[in-house]
Amino acid sequence: MNTTRQVPSDDTAWQLYICHACGYIYNEQAGDPDCGLPAGTRFADIPDDWACPLCGVTKSDFELYAPPDMSALKCASVCRTAATRSTPGIVIVGAGKAGWELVQNLRAQLPQTPITLVTACSGDVYDKPLLSVAMSRHIQPESLVKESGTEAAARWQVRLLAHTRALRICTESQTLRTTRGPLRYTELVLAHGAEAALPDPLKPDLCWRINHLQAYQRFQAALGSATRHVAIVGAGLIGSELANDLALGGHRVTLIDTQERPLARWPADQAGAPLLAAWSGLPIQFIGTVQLQSLERRGHQFQLTTLDGQVVLADQVVAATGLITPSRLAHSAGLAWCNGIAVNAQTLQTSDPHIYALGDCISVNGQSSRFIEPILRQAQTLAAALICKHQQQATDHSALPYVVREALVRVKTTSLPLSLH
Ligand code: FE
Repeated sequence: MNTTRQVPSDDTAWQLYICHACGYIYNEQAGDPDCGLPAGTRFADIPDDWACPLCGVTKSDFELYAPPDMSALKCASVCRTAATRSTPGIVIVGAGKAGWELVQNLRAQLPQTPITLVTACSGDVYDKPLLSVAMSRHIQPESLVKESGTEAAARWQVRLLAHTRALRICTESQTLRTTRGPLRYTELVLAHGAEAALPDPLKPDLCWRINHLQAYQRFQAALGSATRHVAIVGAGLIGSELANDLALGGHRVTLIDTQERPLARWPADQAGAPLLAAWSGLPIQFIGTVQLQSLERRGHQFQLTTLDGQVVLADQVVAATGLITPSRLAHSAGLAWCNGIAVNAQTLQTSDPHIYALGDCISVNGQSSRFIEPILRQAQTLAAALICKHQQQATDHSALPYVVREALVRVKTTSLPLSLH
């Protein structure tokens, strides 16, 4: 790398490039010093074998990124009156990628509107894709936090209600009931994501679900520094990535699935077969085509028994058996539901005119998506729609409609990284 200028030496402005697989944005001006790219490194000057620091795809899976030009929206300027301040404002449920991304998009144009973020966890900001590769990259669980929830809330001027559960929605009074009391809203945004599905016989107190940072940190603490035997139930994307990372982190893994191979939703010759071959030197045992019959505690260990009589004794058990969208909040508001909270792709509005949703909890035309990249575009769409509404534009569609795209899935199995569609 020889390009280290920080002021463009030509007339070309600094550009941003977005990773199609995970949404990571490379900023030429800032570079990425952690990856050996000094500030001012042009994207064109990055070596071809460079990999996305979050998910590992190569340069060819990046494209030029234009941040949303909010000023181009056909909306009047914000009316920053005392009346704006006295409104209940926007309440967002969920402080993951979707919640914080929306906050940033909103704040650029609605500096005065009260925004309240309600989250069951701490609201700390982190990159979720790193949970799948942290062990092999020797990243300590506590170093995954980029900014604490409190710091982010101060920076974006939002009220953060951490460790607070949203209980139900009363649409008539536009009130969200929480474990810290009722919150009135002008607009409510559901960004609470999805949760691990736990088919029988996986009981919640006997297995880990690694769906967010706090769960990951607790799991790591339970593993400690010794070599452990971890059983992972479910060999889809998350199960396979975790198996890979645990094995490279020095643990022994048994990966169990009902299908014949891991990553069974993709053709075997493209995914499962080459992955198993790449794992041949790692302490990963794959047990396919089995149904789990029971999971029981045995002293300090856990015993998994399959229907065909195989027995696995493990120190820890991880459930990676897919995700479901929690329905309680949406149902309390009577929201239309179709495989998730049904939203209008133009605006991400739900069936209630004052309730919107984005991220893993939504479905567009009955289709849900659990990937990071669409969340950035959804946050732009939703911010545009809310900004129009707050500026009292009589509009039933957003200036930045969300477009469903075929997702590029980067399987972060570092022994054999795969890019699948
Ligand atoms: Fe990426």
